[in-house]
Amino acid sequence: MNVSNSLEVIQQFHRRKFTGPENYAAVSKAARQAYQTLSKDEVEFLVLMALTDDKNLQNILACLACLNPGCLKDFHQTLIEQEAFNPSEIYFEANHDVTSILIRLVTKSNEMMQRSCLLSCLAWAGNGYVQKQFSDWKQSPPEWVSMLYVPPHQYTYQAGWELLSNGTRQDLFFETTLPLVIPEEAPCSNDSVQTGIPAEQHCPWCERQLVSLLELDLTSDELAFLNLVGKSLRFTTCDVCACYGTLFSKVDRQGNSSWHAANTRPGYLPDDTSDWGAFPIKPLVLSGQERHFMESADWCSLPAINFSQVGGLPSWIQDDSYPDCPECSRKMKFVSQISNEDYEKSMEGIYYLLLCCDCNVTATVYQQS
Ligand SMILES: [Zn+2]
Ligand SMILES: [Zn+2]
Repeated sequence: MNVSNSLEVIQQFHRRKFTGPENYAAVSKAARQAYQTLSKDEVEFLVLMALTDDKNLQNILACLACLNPGCLKDFHQTLIEQEAFNPSEIYFEANHDVTSILIRLVTKSNEMMQRSCLLSCLAWAGNGYVQKQFSDWKQSPPEWVSMLYVPPHQYTYQAGWELLSNGTRQDLFFETTLPLVIPEEAPCSNDSVQTGIPAEQHCPWCERQLVSLLELDLTSDELAFLNLVGKSLRFTTCDVCACYGTLFSKVDRQGNSSWHAANTRPGYLPDDTSDWGAFPIKPLVLSGQERHFMESADWCSLPAINFSQVGGLPSWIQDDSYPDCPECSRKMKFVSQISNEDYEKSMEGIYYLLLCCDCNVTATVYQQS
């Protein structure tokens, strides 16, 4: 086939031929758009290219899976034949036939690394068949389970869900995904989501003024998907101490928040935090455009993405890290993430904000590379 403009720009991006930072930004943006509008033939071309070019394999497949969700469904059998099991999100929404092959390979595999990859692939398939199989393995663990770092049913967290004790799936994220951007990029944004609002309280450990990284107007139409009854919800934290351990707050739905009694002081905290600049006031606002939740599923491979968002899947920089609620011990649900890079190019790190809806407890988790 003739190589289309879309394929040209995508290949340019993966071959990393840039003339400078501006060109890199422009090519990344064009590649992102190209991925979102591929024909089936173009997807096939890229899959074959990925399978014959080791260097690009993971990145191209990750881009296809995340930027054009579902486009790999017709190619799952080919990917299996080529033993392409990485990155695991390429098996997002795999059908029952594909799932049954993956399950067979898990039980057959002699190699722990491959078995581990296959279990991650099954987590992304996530269908009823997977739930049943993970539940069976949980109830009567096969011999090979003892060789894994975590049991099979805990692989589900990588794909944003957990296996309940009755054997069914519960998502730990909201599918609706609302990106947060700098105010200049969204001049019409309203105040239903606010970021970086200084709080009245101070951190009991480092005495720094606390900050509400996120304030949600629960009465707004945009946030109806959260299904949270009330007026206002704040995610207040110490933006310094949160970098050293998960911080919890007790909240209500009226905009009140207080330091949670269950917070345990990390083994290390910096002696002096005076040279840490204050968290900026209102650095990010709602963009007004939704995106697919898969677009934040891979932190390291995707072109031109700002990861800050309300809803959607967390973009874990390190391993997945859904905290247990300190009150009911159940996994907390991901609500939002704020990526420092989105408001200050020279910075990195992401604050992940989670909630236990039943206990009204919020958590701040921080990761960086
Ligand atoms: Zn602190
Ligand atoms: Zn709870």
